[in-house]
Amino acid sequence: MTDQPTTLLILGASGDLTRRLLLPGLGSLLKVEPDRQVRVVGADRAELSQHEWAQRVRESFVEAEAPQGAVDRVVGQTAYQRTDALDEDQLRELIGSVPGSLVIYFALPPQVTVGVCALLERIGVPEGTRLAMEKPFGHDLASARELNAQATQVVAEEQIHRIDHFLGVNTVLNLLGLRFANRIFQPLWSADHIAKVEIEYDEDLALEGRAGYYDKAGALIDMTQSHLLQVLAMFAMESPASLDAEEMRSLKSQVLRATRLWGGDPRTASRRARYTAGRIGDRDVPDYVDEEGVDPERGTETLAELVVEIRNQRWAGVPFLLRSGKALGVPHKEITVTFREPAHIPDGLRDCGAPDRLVLQLRPGAVTLDVSVNAEGDPFDLEQAQLHTTLGQPRMRPYGEVLAGILDSNPLLSIRGDAAELMWELVEPVLTAWRNDEVPLEVYPAGSQGPEGWGTIPPR
Ligand code: NDP
Repeated sequence: MTDQPTTLLILGASGDLTRRLLLPGLGSLLKVEPDRQVRVVGADRAELSQHEWAQRVRESFVEAEAPQGAVDRVVGQTAYQRTDALDEDQLRELIGSVPGSLVIYFALPPQVTVGVCALLERIGVPEGTRLAMEKPFGHDLASARELNAQATQVVAEEQIHRIDHFLGVNTVLNLLGLRFANRIFQPLWSADHIAKVEIEYDEDLALEGRAGYYDKAGALIDMTQSHLLQVLAMFAMESPASLDAEEMRSLKSQVLRATRLWGGDPRTASRRARYTAGRIGDRDVPDYVDEEGVDPERGTETLAELVVEIRNQRWAGVPFLLRSGKALGVPHKEITVTFREPAHIPDGLRDCGAPDRLVLQLRPGAVTLDVSVNAEGDPFDLEQAQLHTTLGQPRMRPYGEVLAGILDSNPLLSIRGDAAELMWELVEPVLTAWRNDEVPLEVYPAGSQGPEGWGTIPPR
């Protein structure tokens, strides 16, 4: 933290991300660090008065329970400038008007981000400027490469923060402590002892009015392409010497570089499905294709399942199932590690047959270990018991954690350019197979558990 305020210049300041996630995230950072010196400048095409903008910032900070003094100070310095970020003169004037250390946050539609980067290359940015980019990074491998090439013409790779807010989620970060600060798990963390790993993020929320974005993205791009693959990388990476950003990011990239589709064929390693009308709790949910703004011809999936393998010494042969879906009856947001059977159970000991499992619940945070223990009565009859603990509350919102890293020029919680490309490399053959209808689009009623046989590992 320095005494000089860093300017957070938000391009796309009138959009959904800024209102719902970015400003409240900053508010939650101020709650923990009320003295943090940050100046917020909003820019967008929308006509907003200084007063309206300042009100929005204030409301977001108050919602995030930032202390009054910090709210007054940051809101007192905030400014809004109506700008078409694709207009070179307007962008030059905007960049030129911002004093001091600068973070440019692209809360813009992805295609606009690419255009603005091209303009910034011509205009130039003050030394030390950081760029914060939102996912998806491009819309396929080629565009991700193009965006990386463009952005690194503007600033150095270490100054580019590609955002995946899952990296700021305390239960995801908990993987580091659980894995590397406990002797108990380290020797078990490999194909020798683990039979399969499931990383699931199933929501009971349906589309919730987000067709404009979601219908073009779908579950695979929205969730798997970055969030679930980042969790996979954290789960499977080798042990770092320290939390040094470059070392950590290199170790995660190593995992992604070794990750392949299970059996190498998207037709067997992936499944896709879309919800039809149904009921979740006391809510009636319409058929996805009847939701406002959905184009039924697009065939967008609301549930995606992918099975991958990490082809290295530690993990070869272990299936990793990555799944995320909307409008499901019971939300499962967890990592489930299923251990192999013991090599031998003494004759006469009646095991319950269920494998040992470690369940890392992502929301709300909890850790459960399922193990076989004596049942009531006969001491040689075993049953499965759960050793369970909940995690403490996070100190701030995930966007607060991520923003702290950007403002401090620490890319630990940001995605490096090579990782963004590696994630596209993995999902691109799947998207192609889906586009060519080589994988059927299944259906499931909203409120159900998904289509039949969901969650099974296909033969390799
Ligand atoms: P929105 O469409 O809600 O907001 C984008 C904003 O950018 C709009 O206010 C838009 O103005 C403005 N804009 C567009 N073109 C220009 C331009 N040339 N100059 C200045 N402003 C411009 O999108 P989101 O906020 O939802 O998303 C922004 C980014 O964040 C996207 O990359 C998205 O993928 C990512 N993201 C969003 C999440 C979310 O929950 N919303 C979650 C994770 C990532 P106008 O309305 O006039 O077009």
